[in-house]
Formats: sequence, C-alpha cells, structure tokens
Amino acid sequence: MTGVIVVGGGQAGFSVASTLRASGYDGPVTVLAAEPHPPYQRPPLSKKAHTGPVRVELVPESFYRDRDIDLRLGDEVTALDLTARTVLTRTGTRVPYDHLVLATGARNRPLPVPGAELPGVHALRSLDDALTIGRALTTARDVVVVGGGFIGLELARVALAGGARVTVVELAGQLLSRAVSAELEPSLRQRHERAGVRILTATAVRALEGEGRVERVVTEQGVLPADLVVYGIGAVPRDELARQAGLAVHDGVLVDEQLRSVTDPRVSAVGDCARHPHPRADGPVRLESVQNAVDQGALVARRITGSAAPYENLPWFWSDQGDVKLQIAGLRSPSDAVHLVPGDAPERLAAYAFRDALLVAVETLNWPAEHLAARRMLERRTPVSAADLAGTTLGALARAARTAEVRR
Ligand code: ADP
Repeated sequence: MTGVIVVGGGQAGFSVASTLRASGYDGPVTVLAAEPHPPYQRPPLSKKAHTGPVRVELVPESFYRDRDIDLRLGDEVTALDLTARTVLTRTGTRVPYDHLVLATGARNRPLPVPGAELPGVHALRSLDDALTIGRALTTARDVVVVGGGFIGLELARVALAGGARVTVVELAGQLLSRAVSAELEPSLRQRHERAGVRILTATAVRALEGEGRVERVVTEQGVLPADLVVYGIGAVPRDELARQAGLAVHDGVLVDEQLRSVTDPRVSAVGDCARHPHPRADGPVRLESVQNAVDQGALVARRITGSAAPYENLPWFWSDQGDVKLQIAGLRSPSDAVHLVPGDAPERLAAYAFRDALLVAVETLNWPAEHLAARRMLERRTPVSAADLAGTTLGALARAARTAEVRR
C-alpha cells in the first residue's frame, strides 16, 4: 500500500492528515512541507507583533509520531508524475501515492511598483515573515501599509498599537472591497480613523524610494515618509505544480464538488489553492480562510476513508483589527441587497445581505453573538426574509424561536 501524500503543511494539509488517522485510515500518510516549521496557525501572525519565540504550532511534534504521520519538513515538491503516481522533491526523493492531496496554499501577490525590493519593505505570509515584521516594528516610526484588506488592516492596528504613525494606502474606493459590503465599510473605516490610522482609498502607489532602504512611498495623493512598508494586496494560489503536471487549473486547481481534480480523480485539492463548486455561489469559488482549509481537508480525508459527501459547508471569516472584530458568515455577491442594523451597544453593527428577499450573508462588527446566530441560521438554511428582520436581529429571532419551542 503506497498511501496518501499531502503536499503542503498548512492548516489544510494538517487537517487532511489528522482526519485520515481520526477516521481510521491505516495506510501510510506522508505530509511534504516546504516550510521548516511543523504545521502552524497563520491567523495570529498578523494580529499581534511577534519579536520572540512564537507558539503557534497546531499540535506538539509527538502528535505526528503517535499517529504514524510521516511529516517531512523543508523539502519542497518540485514535480508531480500523474502517470507513475509519484511526486518528486527538491532533494531528489521520489514518493509514490495511491491518492495525492494538494494543499499548497497561496503566495502573496507581489507589489508591482519600482522599489518594492528595497530593504524595509515586507509582506506577511509565513512565521518567518511575522518575526521579521515584528522586529522591524520595534523601531519603526512611520509605517505605510499598502492594501486595506484583511492582512493590511490587521497589521496597521498592530503597528499603531506599537506607537508608530500609520497610513493605509488602498487602491480600491473602499477598504476590504473583496470581503465587506459598501454599506458596512464606512463604519469600519471610521473606527480605524478614530483610533488614529490615516487611510487613503482610491489611491495608487507609484513607487517606493530610499537610499539603501525604504524612506518614502510615492502615491497619487503625495509622498508619505516611511521607515517600514508592509503590503497585503491579495494572494495567488500555488497551483503551478498542478498546471505543470497537466491538471486543469484556473486561478486555483479545478476540483469537483467532492474536491477531486476534474482531470484526475486520484488527486484532490483543498484550502487556498482549490477552486470548487459551492451551492451558495454562482460559479466555482476559491476561498481563503481557516474554516475552508480545515473543513475541506477533513472532507477529503473522510472521502478517502469511505464516506463521500459534497463540500457545502457554510463559509465564514473573521478578522481582528485592533478594537474592531469583523466577522462574516455566508457568501455575498455584489447584487445582493444589504441592510445595515445597529446593535444593542454602540460598538455593535450588522449588515444583512439578501438575495431574492432571503438572507444569504451577515457581516458584523464587534458582535460575536449575532455572528454565531447568523452562522447557525445560515447553516440550517432557516429561511429569513427582510420582513422577518424588520426592527429585530438574528439573535433575537433565534431566542424567540427557542422560547416558542419550549412553550410548545
Ligand atoms: P490579503 O489577504 O492580502 O489581505 P485582501 O484581498 O483581503 O488580501 O486585501 C487586499 C487589498 O489590497 C484589497 O483591498 C485590494 O483592493 C488592495 N490592493 C490590491 N492591489 C493594490 C495595490 N497595488 N495598491 C494598494 N492596494 C491594493
């Protein structure tokens, strides 16, 4: 028995390997990871400054030994041979498989301007990146964050908390344009501005300049002094191994509803690198979230061990940006109607998105209870209309439903 090979040691790859064993799979399980660190959590890396040893590993190393998971670190896979069913690594090792799972994640989109390679300019993806940025933050006075998305806003607030002057330069007309509705965004922006972050939207960066290291950022709206520049302008899937091997790829490895490659059923793809159909989306989607990575990894492992099911888990996301806790449940599309609803405390706010008059997604600021109520209702596909929500909240609706249940 040649077993399962997982390419990638992130949350998705870890989920595949651990769920295989939890589901009773007794063949060989090999995880080939390019990074030198055992699988770790990425979300904390952008949410606080890291200068010393960081404890983010998902499990102690004994976990892998105890479960006979062959975790090989620091050896990148360089080619797949789909006919011979082997993978080749940089050190020249060839490993055979019965089933191959690609969990290769995504890489940062490079900043396409002159000067992006200057010392003092950083992007965040890995634990090592987080340590580099953490050390740079201890002395930085003027920080420019390029990209007002998840990573950019989280890092902006980390830098601000460290005492730096912080400017966020965002190309789009609003912050978090990929994730958050235009209705909710002004409130989010206002909170960051009130905390002291300067925000420039609809602003392109022309160049980064400096003698020997970055000293200023030239934007359309003027020149910003900078001794540290961090950028988070989105990610691209690591799908080149799949493409080179002849698997269908289109901004992600194309997989079916059970996350099998549409080209080769012996190959699956999970997490940031996979593009898959989803019952809540019009076309195939590629989702970058921990929930997606963990759930997809588990689904493929269970399929390999005999319980097949389509992937239809409710997508949810969160981001901690200083005192702003942003949570999203469901998938919104630009044509959905969005209603903004103030919470029961001034810092709380919700945006409900409706499609064909039914609730499809909920964005909340500093309102975890409402987010959880939204997740439960969307998961159960409880139909909620705009009329149901007039003058009330999901949390209140859920409480009323529970009370009715008890009385019955
Ligand atoms: P990430 O995971 O890197 O945070 P997001 O998609 O959440 O990715 O956010 C990326 C943000 O960067 C988006 O708001 C996008 O509009 C913005 N962006 C993309 N390209 C540029 C650019 N060249 N300059 C500034 N902002 C950019």
